[in-house]
Amino acid sequence: MKREFPLDKTRNIGFIAHIDAGKTTVSERVLFYTGRTYKIGEVHEGTAVMDWMAQERERGITITAAATTCFWSKDGNKYRINIIDTPGHIDFTAEVQRSLRVLDGAVVIFDAVAGVEPQSETVWRQADRFGVPKLAFINKIDRMGANWEMSLNSIRDKLAAKPVALNIPIGSEERFEGVIDLFSMKEIHFGEPLGSKIEEKEIRKDYLEKASEWREKMIEAIVEMDENLLHRYFEGKKIQDEELKTVLRKATCSNQLTPVFCGSALKNKGIQPLLDAIVEFLPSPSDISEIKGYHPKTGQEEIRKPDDSEPFAALVFKITTDPFVGKLAFFRVYSGSLMAGETVLNATKSSKERVGRIVRMHAASREEVKEVFAGDIAAAVGPKDVQTGDTLCDPKYPVILEPPTFPEPVISIAIEPKTKADQEKMSIALSRLLEEDPTFKMKTDPETGQTLISGMGELHLEIIVDRLKREFQVDALVGAPQVAYKETITRPTKIEGKYIKQTGGRGQYGHVWLELEPLERGKGFEFVNKIKGGIIPAEFIPWVERGIKNAMEKGMLAGYPVVDLRATLFDGSFHEVDSSNLAFEIAGRIALQEGEKKAAPTLLEPVMKLEVVIPPEFLGDVVGDLNSRRAKIKEIFDRVGTKVIDAIVPLASMFGYATTLRSLTTGRGSFTMEFSHYEEVPSYLQENIISGKKK
Ligand code: GDP
Repeated sequence: MKREFPLDKTRNIGFIAHIDAGKTTVSERVLFYTGRTYKIGEVHEGTAVMDWMAQERERGITITAAATTCFWSKDGNKYRINIIDTPGHIDFTAEVQRSLRVLDGAVVIFDAVAGVEPQSETVWRQADRFGVPKLAFINKIDRMGANWEMSLNSIRDKLAAKPVALNIPIGSEERFEGVIDLFSMKEIHFGEPLGSKIEEKEIRKDYLEKASEWREKMIEAIVEMDENLLHRYFEGKKIQDEELKTVLRKATCSNQLTPVFCGSALKNKGIQPLLDAIVEFLPSPSDISEIKGYHPKTGQEEIRKPDDSEPFAALVFKITTDPFVGKLAFFRVYSGSLMAGETVLNATKSSKERVGRIVRMHAASREEVKEVFAGDIAAAVGPKDVQTGDTLCDPKYPVILEPPTFPEPVISIAIEPKTKADQEKMSIALSRLLEEDPTFKMKTDPETGQTLISGMGELHLEIIVDRLKREFQVDALVGAPQVAYKETITRPTKIEGKYIKQTGGRGQYGHVWLELEPLERGKGFEFVNKIKGGIIPAEFIPWVERGIKNAMEKGMLAGYPVVDLRATLFDGSFHEVDSSNLAFEIAGRIALQEGEKKAAPTLLEPVMKLEVVIPPEFLGDVVGDLNSRRAKIKEIFDRVGTKVIDAIVPLASMFGYATTLRSLTTGRGSFTMEFSHYEEVPSYLQENIISGKKK
């Protein structure tokens, strides 16, 4: 079969934003103008097309990254745009990361009242890390307090980006009328009520000067990206808009410039120019260079090019459970093609998988497709053994595309089925959810038999418990949230680990000397082998390391995982007959356990970055409360009629903060929190935590 859409007419993009900036509204308008939905649903009415999961509707936030396909025509060309819906709440950064990986470009949405907010900074940096080219959309120009220029400047100052405005607003707040396109130098008006008709007008007199100024700024920013243009510009020669656009596209795709648009999604203004820009300036899959992976057996680097004739390789970025067709695995094809009915290799799991049906999604409806090609995004129906991050590929050309890395969960709760009947349902439901969400973890405490689930924040776990009830009809009792503490050591030590049994039967002989040293926060674990001259035969050394790692899973201080240390194996001995893998594994374990005790162990706790936004009159109370929570306040500043508090605060003292803040501010305060780093728990608190855990 042939592809119906050329690769260069495909765009895989996502909208990313701070919660409430208007991502849902923008996505909806995009789907409306691209013709796939015919009714505009406001978020507050709970009918937004992208928000199709029940509790998403209730909370008004987007949790699930569904991929939606739509079409847009420009200059006589038809483009297919696949929109990967990215979640807005910081509790789900892993979802943001996962979707960023499969995007070729992103539109970052800002609220014109607030400009760049902390979470937009976070997602922006993540997008940069994955090299995702971006457009910016300054939304809500119609809102009271909107400040387009401040927002534009904050993109430059806070994000260290080079924003270049391609249109400017005409009027602001309730007098926001439309935009001026700085290329065509025309006013653009969006007809009421849904703005589907666009009208061009000459620029009114009192905007002529402003428009020329901004056009000049735009040109300067663009010519700076190209020697030849720069030269001609300084010589005062004419440069065609087409030439400027070509250079701008290149600079955008290589992340050197960020084109900025403005509008109001709610008032249906400014969306079509944004769609034009998506197809004009954001890259197609063919603009993206090859993707690197490795061979599952040899570990050798493997390259896949965005080309239909290459071997098939795709990355699974999302598993969902669809109420109608069951399990869906969303994947992005990086190279080659796949027909429905073919069998692929799941290289990550070394298992074969028959892909019976392939669908392309439009939020709530789906379209069967026979074949998918390089650059496509689609979903496989009913995969058997596929998880987020897995690589599906041509069995003859195995490759593992680097799986995304996810942050570690920082909070957990105990969960217990209400009745015996719920028991089995709960374990089935949890294993489903585990497949969908790699930041969600589950484990059973071997001593108490309790099931512990952990995730990125209180809200994350709340949503999971909520889904258990709603989607799987499992009633569960949940315990109080617990912080994911860790243990580490604070001084170096040398320690011997011996596992020697030489009485009767076959003996055991493992003997090691380790040096343990504290490492910087976040460094994890390092193992160094300094054994020379075969004092311990090489074959046993990986087993020593394994023993150490096993012991680190459960520390000696309070049973939390041990992190941030280096273990150097520098001495030991062995026995010709009695030494075995197992004996060395046990010796390694003993050494670590004894060593931790000797090396002044301490507890670490997750510390969060917090931003609280409140009306000024509540500042005193809110700060007082934060101080009692061990918060370190870094900065307090003004933002259009509100006070913003930036602080660092231990997660352990933030449980239930949403409720407290609500009552302190009569419901007018809001906050966002994300994981920052691990820090030592003050000694006066350690005792309690340790004895509590041992109970
Ligand atoms: P998300 O959390 O980023 O998905 O944001 P939503 O699309 O849910 O929007 C958050 C709130 O802002 C909703 O109440 C929207 O109606 C409102 N909103 C979105 N776009 C605009 C806009 O352009 N102007 C104004 N005034 N409000 C908007």
